[in-house]
Amino acid sequence: MNERVTAIICAAGKGSRAGFEKNKLLVPLRDGQTSLEKTLTAFDFPLIAEIVVACSPADEAEISALAAKYPRTRTVVGGETRTQSVYNALKAASGEIVLIHDGARPFVTRAAILGCVESIQKYGSGVCAVPAVDTVSIIGDDFEILSTPDRKNAVYIQTPQGFCLRELLSAYEQATNSSGEVFTDDASVYAKYVRKPRVCAGARENIKLTYAEDFRERFARVGFGVDTHAFGKAQDYIVLAGVEIPSDSGLIAHSDGDVLVHAVMDALLSAAGLRDIGYYFPDKDEKWRGADSMKMLDEVVRLVKTEGFKPKNLSAAIQAEKPRLAKYIEPMKQNLARALGVDENAIGLSAGTNEGLGYIGEGKGITVTAYTLLEEL
Ligand code: MG
Repeated sequence: MNERVTAIICAAGKGSRAGFEKNKLLVPLRDGQTSLEKTLTAFDFPLIAEIVVACSPADEAEISALAAKYPRTRTVVGGETRTQSVYNALKAASGEIVLIHDGARPFVTRAAILGCVESIQKYGSGVCAVPAVDTVSIIGDDFEILSTPDRKNAVYIQTPQGFCLRELLSAYEQATNSSGEVFTDDASVYAKYVRKPRVCAGARENIKLTYAEDFRERFARVGFGVDTHAFGKAQDYIVLAGVEIPSDSGLIAHSDGDVLVHAVMDALLSAAGLRDIGYYFPDKDEKWRGADSMKMLDEVVRLVKTEGFKPKNLSAAIQAEKPRLAKYIEPMKQNLARALGVDENAIGLSAGTNEGLGYIGEGKGITVTAYTLLEEL
């Protein structure tokens, strides 16, 4: 390919929907990098001959300092509207091909950028889009649905949107001369003054950061719990994750002795930074005598939620010389999944013997270790 490619990054908006004090593109994301830095990094590869960042006069100093870290990158002061800003950037562009991209789409993929350029070479334009997964409707002023296009013909339009510079510049000249009309993207300008633009494959992850919650850091918290109970109760079953399993002896406990659920509860409480189960369910309390541990688990999940977290997955290992547990693994997983409010495939449960070693190997007791991951609600 011989054409030079210019990438124009739109960074002149205020991002008022995100509700920040400053331009949302200059707010650090989860890993400390700003959206604009990530976007510039995405376009910083040899195919792109130059990058022009359209910015507002208020942000020019900050964005120029940031752009200086990237080769072949410079800033152009934009105008009052997106149309005016892009027009100013187009006038400063030198490539034969121009890709216009929202600075608020930092997760654009290399494949989408390359596909866009390829589409311009083949068809004269390339507008990144993904198939609509939601039904798209046109509504009226009173929120009434006016029409609903067939979803198979509906796409979500993204950026980059690529064109031949000469054609797009001429379209923008006409658009800026005809007062009053508002264009939300470049494809609309091109469609009005040149010809129907063509879509090419965008990417699902190429989302536009719009609202404050798009920028919010979501914490994950890991927790670890362990519990041991001794055999010795005159009972012909044990209870694990609410499942009764035939056994020549029961587990000694104040509650139902569900050693698996106890380890899981401690893992959950620990991940949320709460106290251990002995604190919430003291064994001196008659209320918990013979208690159904699954009910206690429900209470723990509720506690964790009041701290702003919910379980994401669980991994637990049962060490028991007896009884044989293999055929009870599935029902145990189902019960745990239901209590934690997760998919069954988010529960990992293994059972093994201790090869005859120690108190477990001698069949004196069962130990369970559990790890869990919580995510912020
Ligand atoms: Mg216990």
